[in-house]
Amino acid sequence: MKILPEPNRSASQTSTVVQLRNWRRGISADKVIGLVPTMGALHEGHRSLIRRAREQCDLVALTIFVNPTQFAPDEDFSTYPRTHEQDLEIARAENVDLVYLANTEELYPAGFATLIDLPALSQRLCGISRPHFFAGVSLIVLKLFHLFEPDKTYFGEKDYQQLVIIEQMTRDLDLDVEIVRCPIVREPDGLALSSRNVNLSAAAREDAQVLSRSLFLARQRWQAGEVIATHLREEALRSYGTEVDLDYLEVLDRDSLEPLVYIQPERGAVICVAANVGGVRLIDNIVLEPH
Ligand code: AMP
Repeated sequence: MKILPEPNRSASQTSTVVQLRNWRRGISADKVIGLVPTMGALHEGHRSLIRRAREQCDLVALTIFVNPTQFAPDEDFSTYPRTHEQDLEIARAENVDLVYLANTEELYPAGFATLIDLPALSQRLCGISRPHFFAGVSLIVLKLFHLFEPDKTYFGEKDYQQLVIIEQMTRDLDLDVEIVRCPIVREPDGLALSSRNVNLSAAAREDAQVLSRSLFLARQRWQAGEVIATHLREEALRSYGTEVDLDYLEVLDRDSLEPLVYIQPERGAVICVAANVGGVRLIDNIVLEPH
């Protein structure tokens, strides 16, 4: 497994970006390259993306970067879990070919001025309380696409709004990469795996179950034939007491993320939720499959 920047190399040597381009140029055109972008603190959710990439690609590249442009000054950039040694062990165990431990100074040198934004999609849901967030995400993802020129790239449905935004950006900018959607990996009690879960206290960990529980209940109603979105939303909201600070819970069109009143059975929908649980921001969602 190749790691960039190479450990034990002095800073005066070729920049990591140049090393990365050299690696990329050395790969013959008939090889399928899969890219898995992450912020590290890897868990089974990330591993599921890596495994999917391993099945479908000749070479798998993993990036680990807690991207500062997607955090506001009052957010958890400094306390976001960082477990590089453990992440490298996982990458080795999953047979990753290249790990890029990206570095802020190289990706955002002094004077960096470009913004990438898709306001119609990025200023709703998570974008209301985190207005800077998706511009930061689209910028780093676009940079990684340019650096790696992957054939396929793997994103989790856990971050549903992010996925829709990246798919839209890929279409809008004619990027030649296939976005592979990977299903949410959950704990046995339903909680969606997230790197932030380690920051939950024992009590908050219990309280956090309400997110997935509420989504499963709403999906049951959908499966039983309910098509009025407000009824599904009310069903889900009934699960919440005062233990979590709910940011939003919305029944949405799966592509446009527009709130729905009525769900066309042949189109389905997605329910997205975000909440602050004991000081930790958690998100979850469930797709209501067409029937
Ligand atoms: P992150 O490190 O949180 O930025 O996530 C990196 C990638 O892993 C994103 O595409 C996420 O959607 C995906 N991911 C994170 N958690 C999960 C999960 N529980 N199940 C599936 N994919 C996930």
